[in-house]
Formats: sequence, structure tokens, C-alpha cells
Amino acid sequence: MPEKSNELLQHSELPVELTWDLIPLYRDLKAWEKDLKDIDPLVAKFMSYKGRLAESPEVLAEAITAMDVMERLAEKVYTYAHLKADEDTGNSKNSALVDRISAKYARISGETAWFDPEVMTIPLEKINKFLKSKALKFYKRSLEELLRERPHTLSEKEERILGLASDIFSNPHKTFSKLNNADMKFPRVKNDEGKLITLTHGNYIEFLESHDRNVRQSAFKAMFDTYAKYRNTIASTLDGTIKKHAFYAKIRNYPSALEASLFEDNVPAEVYNNLIIAVKTKLPLLHKYLEVRAKAMKLKKLDMYDIYNPLVPECRVKVTWDQACHWVREALKPLGKEYCELLEKAFSQRWIDVMECKGKRSGAYSSGCYDSYPYVLMNFNGTLNDVFTLAHELGHSMHSLYSNRTQQYHYADYSIFVAEVASTTNELLLHHYLMKQKRDKNVQAYLLCHLADEIRGTVYRQTMFAEFEKMIHEKSENSVPLTPDMLSEEYYKLNKEYYGKVVDADKRVEMEWARIPHFYYNFYVYKYATGMSAAVKLSQNILSGSKEKLEAYLGFLKAGDSKDVLDIMKDAGVDLSRPEPVLDALDEFGNIVKQLEKALL
Ligand SMILES: [Zn+2]
Repeated sequence: MPEKSNELLQHSELPVELTWDLIPLYRDLKAWEKDLKDIDPLVAKFMSYKGRLAESPEVLAEAITAMDVMERLAEKVYTYAHLKADEDTGNSKNSALVDRISAKYARISGETAWFDPEVMTIPLEKINKFLKSKALKFYKRSLEELLRERPHTLSEKEERILGLASDIFSNPHKTFSKLNNADMKFPRVKNDEGKLITLTHGNYIEFLESHDRNVRQSAFKAMFDTYAKYRNTIASTLDGTIKKHAFYAKIRNYPSALEASLFEDNVPAEVYNNLIIAVKTKLPLLHKYLEVRAKAMKLKKLDMYDIYNPLVPECRVKVTWDQACHWVREALKPLGKEYCELLEKAFSQRWIDVMECKGKRSGAYSSGCYDSYPYVLMNFNGTLNDVFTLAHELGHSMHSLYSNRTQQYHYADYSIFVAEVASTTNELLLHHYLMKQKRDKNVQAYLLCHLADEIRGTVYRQTMFAEFEKMIHEKSENSVPLTPDMLSEEYYKLNKEYYGKVVDADKRVEMEWARIPHFYYNFYVYKYATGMSAAVKLSQNILSGSKEKLEAYLGFLKAGDSKDVLDIMKDAGVDLSRPEPVLDALDEFGNIVKQLEKALL
């Protein structure tokens, strides 16, 4: 929308109170330049330990400390550069800051790659003795994590060959990205106003959210007809990537590609398999939701392009920024006095860059480092959805704040596995609060639909992806070639099973496997589903008013990376090694659907 962007202000013209305050991070560019330079001697210091790690526990501890000091400063320098650049992506001066620190990062990671292999070569008896020493007491957990990989590490010569080949191995994924993001062109389709617009990855969802079925349908057809033209090429890039996962698993002595991928988080394969089984037993609840959706849309059958449009004719509650902040503060009160006091800092210390402005990065995120505020970028437009985004991003930021305050730098950074739990929990608390506050039937229906769609998208849809991912890996491991016909046939079958009888899907959806970049990420998507399930349980715990349950939750926020992810979640009150959290979360989905049915029909 170029007309609109002409009216946008420059970042420097925004009201100061609605921008983030980066001054506590760096007073000015000179201070940033100084730190950028100061990274070099820290790298040199760390490098001086090369070849010496086996000398004594003290030397090994000093080396790890030197690495932490170096990385901590590099992260601070990077954080400022990327936040500054995101204020206006068109500002080449600021994007040059990112380029400079990124180049330095790349050089550092190349130069310091010797560390892990050198630790691995310390003889077992010796390192076990080291681990009992006082000097390494603090680093014991992270060293043990590293040493867990020992049975899966090859000889130095073999590792060297693998290292040299890694760029070649990443080629199928790279080829897919180039094709998908640069070379593939989509046709033009009519939007709501009847204007012909070129379809892109970015605007596809806007078409699917249209209230005009023709608009949705033509975007859907255009999308998948285009993918169908490239089906052989994309099947081949996916086949290459899956073969790579299977190859690495095999030569590194893992029973399967799935287990190789879960190894990093120390998550057993049952967690993955239980998720799929649990979601499948609760498919009737998804079918019920789709039935309600079909009725509300006055359709006998839904097609795949009838699932993303908001059911409540856009609930136009215009929310001011102050109102949004007030709702979030109130909604998060069940998290206790200390949480609320810390949350206030988000506003008083100006963590949040609120408004859209010229060239600003789109979307929203929470980002920071050990030595900065946990900043939030938003493009606040005054919709109810924006209020949920605010609660979500502040969930990430408060998680970072608690972990950084409680843990030392070495163990502060929490794992991706738990990363979406705190943010989603905050959204659920906001939902609960607004449902109580807003008695308007339309707003209630909007809120219920919003939540139902979120659970459908994160638990059902991502688990369907996870099942597909597992299936194609297993086939590939059994030497079954991943042909386009097979991929489409299997995908279509799975889609039919998940969406049930109410959905009479256009056959084109069989090509959807071709447009999911996550299939190249090596068993990643299941974490969305487990994270959402955990959040449902934890928000219920918080709202129960039990002091112990609240303490357990705050313990999770404080834990950082100090324990294994499943242990962190268990201590917080959710045992993800069992199917119950997923089953319970989907029963809650069932309740929401019932309420939605009442509100809509
Ligand atoms: Zn998030």
C-alpha cells in the first residue's frame, strides 16, 4: 500500500515515549565502535587456550570463561546494530552496522571452532576426573552436555571431511530457498476491491482472510497451480535434504534421523510419537470446530481456503495504546506482585518500539541480550490482535528478564523448545481476562474464534506436519524414493484424515508439502505443538490461584538453560513425557469450540 507509506513518519519523528530507549545499551555510536573493536583482544585471549584444554581443570575453566566474555560482548554489539537497523530498514548506515558485526561473527565462529573437538579428545578418564574438580563445578552441566555427543562424534579426519562437505550438503535446502523466494513467480489475482494484485508469500494470507470466497479461492488456486509446475524440482530438493538428515544420523550412530534431531534437547522419541497419537485421538474435536465454522459461514462443506478467514465479521474495536497496556497489565496480575512490578519497567524504561514508521521492520518480536533490556518491536495498529501481540512479546521479554536476573550468562539463554511457552501463556491469560471484561457477544465470539484458530494452527496443523515429516524420513531411511507423486498422495491422505468429512478439499492442496520451509529444518515444528499444550496447562495452573503452582511457573521463567528442557517443564508443572498435557489442551480446545458455537449460532 504505497499511499499509506507516504504518510508514515520517520522513526525520529515519533513521540519519544512510544519508541524504545537504546541509550542504556549504547550512549552513542562511538561507544558501539569501541566495543566492536574490543571484541578482538577477547578473541585473541580465547585463542591463547588452543591446544591447552587438557592441561588442567583450571585451564579448561579459564578457557570457557574467556569464551563467555567474548560472546557476551559480541552479542551486545550485535543487539544494538540489529535493533537500530530495524527502526528503518532503508537506512543503509544502520544496516552497515549489522553487516560489520555479522562479518566479525562469521570470522569468530570459524576461528574458534576448535573448542568442542578439542574437549572431545581429552581422554575419558581424564575428563571425568576434571569434572569432579572444584574449578569446573559451575561448567559441569554444559561440559556433560557436550560430552554426551562423544559416542556420536567421529575421528578428527572424518569430522574434517564432513566439515568440508557441509556446504555441499546444504545445497538442496539452498536451492529450494532460491527457487521459493526468488525465482518462483505467482500470477496476479483479484483482491477484495477487484484490483489485480501479484500474489506473493507475504500477501497470500491476506487473500485467505478475505470475506469474499472467490478471492480466497482464486488465491488458493494460483498458489498451488504454481507449485505444481515445480513439483519435480521441489520433490528433489526435499528428497536431498531428508537424505542428508538420514545420512548424518547413520554415520553418527543414531538409530534414526528423528532421534538424532531430538538428541540435542535430550528429548526421547516417545515425546514426539505421543504427541501424534494424542492429537489423533482428539481429531473429532477439530472436526466439530470445522462443523461450527461451516455453519457460521453458511456452507455445507468447507474447502481448504475457508479455514483462515476470521469468523466474526471483523470485530472493529479500536484500541488505544494506553488501553492495550492497561488490559495487559490487568490480565497478567495473576502472575503476582513481583512479576507485575518488573513488567512496569517495560513501560517506564521504554523497552517497546510501538508504532509503525517509515521503513520499520514489519511484524513483532522480542529481542535483547544479557546486557540489554529485553526489547520489543511492534507495529501497533489498534486492533484486538495487536493487544495479543503485546502480551505475547512481553511474555518473551519477561522470560528473558527472569532468566537473565537469575542465571549467570553461561546458563541464561533458554532453549527453543521452551521459547514459546511464556509468550503463549500470557496470551491465554489475556484471553481469560478479556472474556470476563467484555460481555459484548461479538467481542466474545471474536476472542473465542481467535483462540480456537490459534490452537488449531499450532497444535493440529503443526502435528500434521510433524507426522508428515516423520513419515517421509522413515520412507527415505528405508530407501523409498520421495517422488512428487508419493509426496502428494501421502500429503493429501493425511490432510483428509486431519480435516475430516466437513472439508471437501480441492485436490490442489496435495501440493502443500512443497511450500512448507519447515520440512527442511529437521524435526522442528513439533515444538510449536508441545509449547502450546504446556501453555494451556500452565495458564490454568496460574489462574487456579495456587501459590505453589505460581511459584513453579516463575521457577520456569528463572530456569534459563540450567536444566534439561523436559525437567524444566516438569518442575513448572507440565510433564511433556506423558500424553496428558496434549490431551488436556485439546479438551480445552473442545470447550472453546462449544462456547464458540453458542456465541455464533
Ligand atoms: Zn513468540
